[in-house]
Amino acid sequence: MTCDNLGGADRENYIVELDLDSNPCNPNGSKLSLERFIHGEIYRARPDVNAIVHTHSPALIPFGVSKTPLQPLYHMCGFLAEGAPIFDIQLKHGMTNMLVQSNELGRSLALSLGKSAVVLMRGHGATIVGSSVKEAVYRAIYLTINANLQPIAMQLGTPKFLDYEEAVKAEELHRAILNRPWDYWKSRL
Ligand SMILES: [Zn+2]
Repeated sequence: MTCDNLGGADRENYIVELDLDSNPCNPNGSKLSLERFIHGEIYRARPDVNAIVHTHSPALIPFGVSKTPLQPLYHMCGFLAEGAPIFDIQLKHGMTNMLVQSNELGRSLALSLGKSAVVLMRGHGATIVGSSVKEAVYRAIYLTINANLQPIAMQLGTPKFLDYEEAVKAEELHRAILNRPWDYWKSRL
């Protein structure tokens, strides 16, 4: 990420440019996200990542606090092939308010994310990464759908999840047709 001027009339209202240390490039009193360090440290650790979604989606919480792993059971979630590791902030940082409010905490989160597309955050939510805004949004939406479906499938018995190879192939396909759901979501705004 750079501090190049992006331009745009409403830019000041909606976009805050930060450097990799999560300091504002053009300090102007804009209110900064408390958890902006999530973004800075993941961008620093993952050059392949160009967009990040951080969510407090309730459907994801059970998988961050239990020993039941979130696994792909829906072909739209092939991005879960590399798993959904859990970031337990307490393990290294003790008692906190659970938020990622420093570069040190952001680095720990990025470490937990590893090479995955998703990192679940115990008792907090999740962070999802992508190579583009479209991909990160797509993944965030379908991650929650997968999290809603998995407990239903488990109530019915033992689910047969996507095999690793199936997940990889499904992900390749959906990467190629990302514009279709993106255009639909935009049409609903
Ligand atoms: Zn948060």
